[in-house]
Amino acid sequence: MAIARPVRALALAAALVWCFFIWQLLSPSGTAMTKDKYLSFERDPNLDPTGEPEGKLIRASEDYAPGAKNSARINATLLALVRNEELEGMLQAMRDLERTWNHKFNYPWTFFNDVPFSEEFKKRTRAVTKAEVRYELIPKEHWEMPSWINQDLYHESVKILEEKKIQYADKISYHQMCRWNSGMFYKHPALANTQYYWRVEPNVHFFCDVDYDVFRYMHDNNKTYGFTINLYDAPASITTLWPETEKFLAEHPEYVHENSAMNWLTDKTRRPDHTKDANGYSTCHFWSNFEIGDMNFWRSKAYEDYFNHLDRAGGFFYERWGDAPVHSIALGLFEDSSKIHWFRDIGYQHIPFFNCPNSPKCKGCVTGRFTDGEAWLNREDCRPNWFKYVGMG
Ligand code: GDP
Ligand code: MN
Repeated sequence: MAIARPVRALALAAALVWCFFIWQLLSPSGTAMTKDKYLSFERDPNLDPTGEPEGKLIRASEDYAPGAKNSARINATLLALVRNEELEGMLQAMRDLERTWNHKFNYPWTFFNDVPFSEEFKKRTRAVTKAEVRYELIPKEHWEMPSWINQDLYHESVKILEEKKIQYADKISYHQMCRWNSGMFYKHPALANTQYYWRVEPNVHFFCDVDYDVFRYMHDNNKTYGFTINLYDAPASITTLWPETEKFLAEHPEYVHENSAMNWLTDKTRRPDHTKDANGYSTCHFWSNFEIGDMNFWRSKAYEDYFNHLDRAGGFFYERWGDAPVHSIALGLFEDSSKIHWFRDIGYQHIPFFNCPNSPKCKGCVTGRFTDGEAWLNREDCRPNWFKYVGMG
């Protein structure tokens, strides 16, 4: 039976399209589709079933018991900068992290404060963990406004920031906190022998059981930094951060890693106004109230030089540079982006954003919900750009 030529052509075309579709589905990376899919908020990857990360994972054992003789723990600590007044919020965050993870691994907690911790703070935080707990005072020279900051200029700058509705602009302690988290915490003598940290803030929530040693995961899989949430920032808080970074890079082009996340840092397609207002920086950053990191990166010459450059420029005070964009720019430039890991399996909330994966191990958050605030907050999600330029790691 003869088949008309147009029909044959149509059948061939259909077969080709079908083959392409199957190839897309089965190809090992499947990247083309995945990236586009997530670029347009059509589907959050947290809606897809999430298991543990690939790679070697170390499970709980008696070697993780508190005070175990041959402890399986590596040089790592849970770390929180916190005020005495935030005790209740700290206890809540600790209980969540102990319940979902640390009661199995018993990593020490290290608390930092710019004033001494109260006896009540010590007593009650000690009571919610079996692990060792340390309380550390921040040396004045790590906390105080550096001598080169001009007070008149600082007060003038605060006024301008307030006109631009930058939150906390007038709170000196907020600027100090951002500077300390950017370039000081890992220099505290109490951390001299510690390599990895997991930063925890009061009032955050953890929703999912995590059954492997997260620090060992970082170490064994050669990861430098782990995040859960990736956001846009307020450009007016960091107007000169990228221009200062460019000045630094002009002096030190050798620090940029060949597999950097430069495209993620400088994307101007997804929110062009942000990139324009921040003078070339997309403002995308890892939300640093959660971070799991290797302090060797912050202790590297590249980061030390970069932080000193920024510190001298004064933007921690004349603007409101946060530790999140500062850490993120440094990681995005100086580190191999494949060493930055999205902990998609760690359910997390810091008001008003969530990381809530689709997993039977999670309780108490809504799968795939990014925010419980107003709808416009969904625009603040920069994960699609991270997936686009770097991947889902
Ligand atoms: P936000 O998350 O940007 O709204 O800032 P937070 O108020 O949560 O502060 C970030 C972290 O720094 C939290 O862990 C706070 O407890 C801590 N923090 C902020 N300011 C101070 C301070 O002046 N002293 C101490 N000890 N901790 C602070
Ligand atoms: Mn906070």
